Amino acid sequence: MPSPSKAENSPDQPPKSSGKAAKVKMSDIECPNCQKSSRFNLTEIPAHFPFCSMRCKSHDLGEWLTEDEEEEDDEDNTASNS
Ligand SMILES: [Zn+2]
Repeated sequence: MPSPSKAENSPDQPPKSSGKAAKVKMSDIECPNCQKSSRFNLTEIPAHFPFCSMRCKSHDLGEWLTEDEEEEDDEDNTASNS
């Protein structure tokens, strides 16, 4: 007669990683603007994430807006065949 298991042995915590116990989780993220690899603290994500800096973030956003504008302004090259 099989005896029922005493208690399920499934701890919520993940197994300890051998070696250094890193409390802070760091990750290398490539800046979408300047492609510079920056190390981010994922437990304290900065406002400019995933850009390397606030400057890069605003720069990228500005470029995107400008691009959109320029595209709309470029429809003068269609009907010029008289
Ligand atoms: Zn950058």
